[in-house]
Amino acid sequence: MMRDHCSRSFLYPLLFANASLMCYNEGNLWSVKTYFRRQAMRYRQIHLDFHTAPVINDVGVDFDAEQFVKTLKEAHVNSINIFAKCHHGMCYYPTRVGKMHPALQFDLMGQMIEVLHKNDIKCPIYFPIGWEEDAAEHTEWLEMGPDGIPGHKKKDDNSYYSWRKLCLNNEEYKAYIKRQLKEIADAYEVDGFWFDIIFQQKCICKTCTAEMRALMRDPANEKDVLWHDDYVLFKFQKEINEYVESLGKHIPTFYNSSWLPNTGTDGLMIEHRSVLQDHMEIESLPSGEWGYNHFPLFVNYHNRNDGDVIGMNGKFHLSWGDHGSLKNEEALEYECFRMLANGAACSVGDQLHPRGVMNRAAYARIGKVYEVIEKLEPSCIGSKKVSDIGVVVSTDFYKRDTTSDEGVLRMLEELHYSFDLIPVTEELSRYKLVILPDTITGDESFRCKLAAYLKEGGKVLATHQSACCVPGIEYISEDLYEPSYIVLNEGVIPGVEALEYVCYRRGSRVKSTLPVKAYIGDPYYNRTPDCFSSHRHFPFNKVSEYPAILLDDAIGYCAFPLFEDYMIDGNRVFRDIISYLISSLMPKPSMRVKAPTCAEVTLRRKVERTLVHIISYIPERRTRTIDVVDTRLPIYQTEVQVLSDKPYTCATLLRSGQKLSVTCEGGYATVTVPVIDGYECVEFS
Ligand SMILES: [Zn+2]
Repeated sequence: MMRDHCSRSFLYPLLFANASLMCYNEGNLWSVKTYFRRQAMRYRQIHLDFHTAPVINDVGVDFDAEQFVKTLKEAHVNSINIFAKCHHGMCYYPTRVGKMHPALQFDLMGQMIEVLHKNDIKCPIYFPIGWEEDAAEHTEWLEMGPDGIPGHKKKDDNSYYSWRKLCLNNEEYKAYIKRQLKEIADAYEVDGFWFDIIFQQKCICKTCTAEMRALMRDPANEKDVLWHDDYVLFKFQKEINEYVESLGKHIPTFYNSSWLPNTGTDGLMIEHRSVLQDHMEIESLPSGEWGYNHFPLFVNYHNRNDGDVIGMNGKFHLSWGDHGSLKNEEALEYECFRMLANGAACSVGDQLHPRGVMNRAAYARIGKVYEVIEKLEPSCIGSKKVSDIGVVVSTDFYKRDTTSDEGVLRMLEELHYSFDLIPVTEELSRYKLVILPDTITGDESFRCKLAAYLKEGGKVLATHQSACCVPGIEYISEDLYEPSYIVLNEGVIPGVEALEYVCYRRGSRVKSTLPVKAYIGDPYYNRTPDCFSSHRHFPFNKVSEYPAILLDDAIGYCAFPLFEDYMIDGNRVFRDIISYLISSLMPKPSMRVKAPTCAEVTLRRKVERTLVHIISYIPERRTRTIDVVDTRLPIYQTEVQVLSDKPYTCATLLRSGQKLSVTCEGGYATVTVPVIDGYECVEFS
């Protein structure tokens, strides 16, 4: 595989002024480190859980190394995370440092590594940190929450995923971890360490309290405790990285949950932490607590730059540890194709049976999907995302309240625009349009950057309080009424009927010299316990003097938090307003796809070729707990257009191999895809 890639690359090293070694690969300028990591990145992975309680008495008795690897090969798997140790603290190799599972009679991990490497399957080593029940017997190593419960677990707590939580700041525990890592690195050929449960939960144990005081932080102040949690994680990753590096084998590391927004104060820790590992991996089981918006939200945030990203779901119907269940075939396809379409490698989570036998039904299902991924990989690996729109994420995004960010995600996905979710620090000039959703007030430097971007011909769409950043709009106050109305006259927004449309959440009053498209409509009164009319809010009363929608050549604005409102209540007119503003500001997007709003579309480029991924499955809330996917939704005669300086002559459907004729007009190359049965990728060349 590596030879194949090299033959298509120009690998002549160039020494740049900043002294980092660079090389060209298929037209992309990469650091040499990125180049070699990229070659090493495997796209068809398994994450094999093996949390096995010491009370289980027949661990590994049916394990057959040849059968194990045969199952993986038949399922087109080329990398698998295997277990050194589990959340019970049981080890699956002979250890002098930790505790080997009492029922295991042989070196299970060693046998796995040997047979996997013989068959060119990579196998990073899973190693849990925060949840490790054997180490938790050292109660002084546990976290202590503000509620005074050691490890955050009450004695009678029988809920799922409730393990005693160890503190990542405890020196003795860290020393114990290091001894075990050294033991593994000395005895085995290790492809990587995959560290799990890398978070802190407001720890005020003795060590953390003393450290906070030394850092002039107050252990009684929640904000300071959250800040310190992040401080501990950053310090832990740095320390363990340095230790692993000191073992002299250049073993790559990954720390789970590093996609998580920072819970502290600066909003930037996520960038810092993600630097301290060799790839980004997004654990996201849509049928678990994550849901179907989580993966696209975070992969979007992370894949805007040229880094390795892996998406991880699970083969379970629900989530981890759901023994005896299989994810619907269509759901597995949908989730994995979404990863590929977003430039991410796939990792499907599974759990090995205690006796060591892989589940045939699960791997038959995974194999069907991975066969498709394998076929498309050569065209997809190394492709880069093309984004027209930069969407600045809210400060709440970093605190896991992603409502308005998800509102933007939903709208832009449904409208088939290509976009990046970006931090305020991102360079704006790479985007045709910048969206400031609902609450982006920014600081002085961001406002200057935005003004400069507009001067250079950039376009801005803002809603609600984000008016504070936009030149030419003066924010006055919040609206007096909640809810109030957007008064849309006939013909203002093509296809949208004239009406006073209710906006459920309180908007903003602004002044501006920009052309007004619509005004805010006031209700008679705000509803109160003593003053109410009908079941809900008061109806529209009169047009106010305050603008609801402003639009000129460069700036679009709506005075209501439409993205938050859309995420909560899904009122379509909010999306219609945003669609109108975007198409007015950016009449020539890089991609146009005439597909139903449920189709998900991404745009990527690899040197001269342009890839449009189109995914068509519908998650439905049929149950009280999860969204179900059990159907591919075929779509027919889909017109796909890409903006290109180069007149494309050929388009290929990568799944079927079918060639399509391309017409070029008005700067767009256009094809019509006869049928998309769940997923297809159109390659223009
Ligand atoms: Zn602590």
